[in-house]
Amino acid sequence: MDQVISDFQTRLSEHGITLTEHQFVQFEQYFRELVLWNEKMNLTGITEREQVYVKHFYDSLSLAFYVDLTKVETLADIGTGAGFPSVPLKIAFPHLRVTLVDSLNKRIQFLSHVRDTLGLKDVACVHGRAEDLARKEEYRDQFDVVTARAVARLAALNEFCLPFVRKDGVFVSMKGSDPQEEVREAGLSLRELRGKLMQVHQFELPIEQAQRHLVVIRKIAATPAKYPRKAGTPLKTPLI
Ligand code: SAM
Repeated sequence: MDQVISDFQTRLSEHGITLTEHQFVQFEQYFRELVLWNEKMNLTGITEREQVYVKHFYDSLSLAFYVDLTKVETLADIGTGAGFPSVPLKIAFPHLRVTLVDSLNKRIQFLSHVRDTLGLKDVACVHGRAEDLARKEEYRDQFDVVTARAVARLAALNEFCLPFVRKDGVFVSMKGSDPQEEVREAGLSLRELRGKLMQVHQFELPIEQAQRHLVVIRKIAATPAKYPRKAGTPLKTPLI
């Protein structure tokens, strides 16, 4: 085991996450495919191995530091890009049934390839815009946990993501440095989309002392029929 993997293992075990040899192999396969495909398409600006393990893999898994995923069955990742945070979460918690959503089909093709290469089961790679997909019965008010990392400001994200969450499920928004202002401007979108702010967790990445925040929002009732508004509107005219 090399230093990058050994650090990764130690840092995860501090949060009660232990991985098998097979899971470490899957993370390494994912790293290789990410770097390989990144030569042909824009997936990530981070390609150095240790940086990928900390800034993508460890950061993605941080959701599990605050939400007990052993009790969760279904998870959706809206605007998943190259698969963050959902692919690391699926590798570490293989019982999850995961739905990956992105509006760029090339990224969905990459993710389907990753799923097949790593042998991941119960992973749906869905091409479409969140606003359109959330109108479909199979996705609306369905998921135990919905997450999004680096997709939009919280007011727009609430409209993208909360419609996918089942009543009493949670939306976990993964944010970088201080999200207080975004949280302040998200009051109206929370009320309209039936979300209740529960906690804002803060932690530091183990390199560069980079600050990260996880905003946990509970869904308290079904999504009102008028939401989400038509594709593009939540970003153009956020509920603020
Ligand atoms: N979550 C990944 C991460 O943390 O690395 C990707 C972040 S990337 C900056 C934002 C992604 O959201 C892009 O892949 C983009 O195609 C997708 N996206 C933006 N708006 C979307 C929408 N309305 N519905 C679905 N996907 C969307």
